[in-house]
Formats: sequence, C-alpha cells, structure tokens
Amino acid sequence: MTKFFFQVALTFLLPLDLIAQTNPAAQAAKDYTIAVAWQQHSGEYRALSFQAYNFAKLSLQERLKGADASKPNCVVVDIDETVLDNSPFQGHEIQKGLSYAAKDWSEWTAKAAADTVPGALGFLKYAQTQNVETFYITNRDQADYKATLSNLQRLGFPYADDAHLVVKQGTSDKEPRRQQVLGKYNVLLLCGDNLSDFSNVFYREGKNTKEEVDKAQQEFGNHFIVLPNPMYGDWEKLLYKGEHLNETQRAQQRIEGLKSY
Ligand SMILES: [Mg+2]
Repeated sequence: MTKFFFQVALTFLLPLDLIAQTNPAAQAAKDYTIAVAWQQHSGEYRALSFQAYNFAKLSLQERLKGADASKPNCVVVDIDETVLDNSPFQGHEIQKGLSYAAKDWSEWTAKAAADTVPGALGFLKYAQTQNVETFYITNRDQADYKATLSNLQRLGFPYADDAHLVVKQGTSDKEPRRQQVLGKYNVLLLCGDNLSDFSNVFYREGKNTKEEVDKAQQEFGNHFIVLPNPMYGDWEKLLYKGEHLNETQRAQQRIEGLKSY
C-alpha cells in the first residue's frame, strides 16, 4: 500500500523522465512516443491518409462500373485509426507511464472526442453521393456503442446509425461480421489500419504475414485501402513470443526483435 501511494505521489509530483527512471513499465511505455508524435505532428501522416482515401475514391469509381446491380453497394471501414484518430488517448497513456489501460480507453471513448483521420470523411461523403453505404465494423465494445455513434455523428460521418455500426460481438474476429454484410451487399472495398480489417489470412491463421501480404499485393490501394498506424496493431504480436508478457518484457522483446548488422 505504501508503495502504491508512493507511486501515485510520484506520478503527480515528478517530471516524466523521473517517473520513467523510477518505474520500468513507464520507461517501456516511452517506446511508443515517436509513433504517437509522428501521427500527431508529421505532415507525412496526413499525406499518407489522404493518399489512401484518394486511392479509395479512384477504386470505388472503377468498382462501381462492374458492380452486381441486383444488390446495393457498400464500403466497409474500420473505425480506430481508419476514420477516427485516437492518438490523444495514446499520448495520455504515455504521459501516465502506460502503454494501454482498458479503463482509460473507456474514459477516452466516452468523451466522443476523437477527430477524423484525414480524408476519411470526404471519401465516405463522396461514396454516399454514389449511393454507396458505409458499414463501420469495429472491435470497440458494446459498452462504447453510444459514444462511438455520437462521435461519428458529431463529425458528420454518413450512415452513422444503428443499422451500420457493427461493434464487437463476442469475438474480435471480424470475418463473421464481414460475411453478414457480404450476404446482402456488394462490398466494393474495405478500409483499415490493420490487415485483419481485410482478411484473416494475414494474422489470424498462423501463416507467414509477409508472404501473405506479397501474395495479396495487387489488392492494396485497390480492394484493400490501408491507413498508416505506427502506434499499435496485430503486427506487434509477431514480436511478442508469449501471451502474457508485462510491459517491461514486451519492451525487451522489441529490442531483441530488431534487425541489425
Ligand atoms: Mg483500427
């Protein structure tokens, strides 16, 4: 207990670098700083996001030409780091000396304060003018449902309603939810920051990720629109050999996993 109060007191009183020196987990969480800084401050992050959605628009125009006329058309998008930017949450966690705490994530999503990923709103509004609906398939929880809808609606995202927001249903596997949409719609393209937003072959079937990406190379910028997210993703799992590593162990695995010469 004394140790706990000591740590709380330190959190309020000490500058960040001193927190990191006295708390190894905080030191490990600092690994994420450059990724969050890049997303928040670089022009390149914005440019890549616009590039992704410019490709999305071109691809949509092409795909509309060959679409099955017997079904309505849609695009499927992920939410986090695809249409909403959660980098303020990630920044908040690093400043607290953490990489992620579920309680803080709920606090952040409840604020409905995330901004748009550059280009996302313009693209989805364009799709709407072409009678292309948007389905938001996200691994946010049911508990975050109302605030997520309100965040999307506040920013003016089209089809931000009960019929089009699909949150996590027991499993983080998006394939069953994709199949539900595919049964009724032509899914003209999918947008995501994580390859699992497109297909399970990349991370969820035990295959070699890079080989699967190479096999699918014609799909990117075409059927699969990829957004940049340097902060987190399924890619991290490739580095961590073990399910229940703590933050310090994960940091060690990151160092050990680096290619060098
Ligand atoms: Mg995402």
